[in-house]
Amino acid sequence: MSRIVIVGANHAGTAAANTILDNYPENEVVIFDQNSNISFLGCGMALWIGGQISKPDGLFYQTKEGFEAKGATVHMETRVESIDYYAHVVHAVAADGTTIDQPYDKLILATGSEPIIPPVEGMDLQNIQRVKLFQQAEEVVRKLQDPAIRRVAVVGAGYIGVELAEAFQRNGRDVTLIDMMDTCVAGNFDPEFSALMEKNLADHGIGLAFGERVLRYEGEGGKVTRVVTDKGTHEADMVCVCIGFRPNTQMFRYVGFEMMQNGALLVDHHQETSKPGVYAAGDCSSCFYNAADGELAYIALATNAVRSGIVAAHNACGTAIDGIGVQGSSGICIYDLKMVATGLTQKKALAAGYDARVSDFAQVQKATFVETPNPEVKVRIVYDGTTRKVLGAQMASTYDMSAGIHMFSLAIQEGVTIDRLALLDVFFLPHFNQPYNYYTMAAYNALLGK
Ligand SMILES: Cc1cc2nc3c(=O)[nH]c(=O)nc-3n(C[C@H](O)[C@H](O)[C@H](O)COP(=O)(O)OP(=O)(O)OC[C@H]3O[C@@H](n4cnc5c(N)ncnc54)[C@H](O)[C@@H]3O)c2cc1C
Repeated sequence: MSRIVIVGANHAGTAAANTILDNYPENEVVIFDQNSNISFLGCGMALWIGGQISKPDGLFYQTKEGFEAKGATVHMETRVESIDYYAHVVHAVAADGTTIDQPYDKLILATGSEPIIPPVEGMDLQNIQRVKLFQQAEEVVRKLQDPAIRRVAVVGAGYIGVELAEAFQRNGRDVTLIDMMDTCVAGNFDPEFSALMEKNLADHGIGLAFGERVLRYEGEGGKVTRVVTDKGTHEADMVCVCIGFRPNTQMFRYVGFEMMQNGALLVDHHQETSKPGVYAAGDCSSCFYNAADGELAYIALATNAVRSGIVAAHNACGTAIDGIGVQGSSGICIYDLKMVATGLTQKKALAAGYDARVSDFAQVQKATFVETPNPEVKVRIVYDGTTRKVLGAQMASTYDMSAGIHMFSLAIQEGVTIDRLALLDVFFLPHFNQPYNYYTMAAYNALLGK
């Protein structure tokens, strides 16, 4: 029997706690979280703001009471302030000031990430919003009841910024999406695919201010009224800053942990940190990126958080389970346009030194004779011209082809060459697809050197 203390109970901490409580009931589990809620699905935030869901109730899948019913001790609104790694004691302070000194045998750190907020002048004006916590989403929804908030600027055109731009537009606001890159979702897609999303946003009336660096925020009466960039000025009654996340690991600095440069806790394939018996999972930790030969990476995704929480929990309980690394698979759905990706873009693969080549193919989803809607699907496979291994893939369509990306994810994980995909046995049924479908055709063209 071990006493296992979990610090942080969002996706990684919740996955770890559920794994231990469901499979190793002989252990004592003590959970700390500084927030008042558990397991908030931030992915639902834009849907709520945009009115695509009417209430946030479904955005949580675990509660304090749920954990307690399984036998855990849960301290909510209790911040872990420091940890004595020699004496094996966690020091925490509750919202009412009560202090707790909690001994542990094993520790799972799941403190997640925090938004990157550059020190831009005017950042403390009212209505400049951060978007990570449930409370922050609540604040935005509440403020949007005020019709005086007419114009919203979203800073950062990654997945979250693009989703929020759509949400504010659906909510009836005039929206400007600002990014210093010259396009959107550039971390996950090559320019040919980003261009599809750009057009989609522009077609829905969202103002695009790409290639602009925010210099300062200006306001009147303490409230933000405009965003000043190096190229111009954008009027805004609300600004959402979503330029990325960094590991929330300040507390673990200078106490002997090995870390990535950005502060992510280095973990091995058991999610164990450089301190024996101390595990880390989710956004506070590093991962192994199979698309780049298993090198260390920081990829903040709920999917990674859940998987790594499960791995950490089994290993903390004495069952040796190796994580198998990640491909960074992700997707976005804006209005009707669905875009999914896994692994490296060509741009990133070239920057990483690969002989990165692409094979593009576009085809309608189903047999051409069907009389149901039959949108085109575009696919790009990124592969290494020397080893022929698949490095990444991107797909876009108004058709829900999203599950197709999982095959490429597996191909990257298993080091499959593009030539092996060309004649892959893919079933055909006219209702669903074509006999030579876009996956195999893209790979086949690469095989032929086209
Ligand atoms: C708007 C938005 C949309 C997203 N959409 C998606 C999506 O569609 N798909 C996807 O895969 N990912 C998505 N993500 C990313 C995903 O939410 C994160 O990767 C995920 O939340 C990471 O989970 P985590 O448990 O590691 O960390 P976090 O969610 O950051 O949770 C960390 C927890 O630790 C607690 N904590 C921190 N420090 C302490 C301390 N000192 N003491 C006690 N408690 C502490 C915090 O209160 C928090 O509960 C989205 C994120 C956002 C913000």
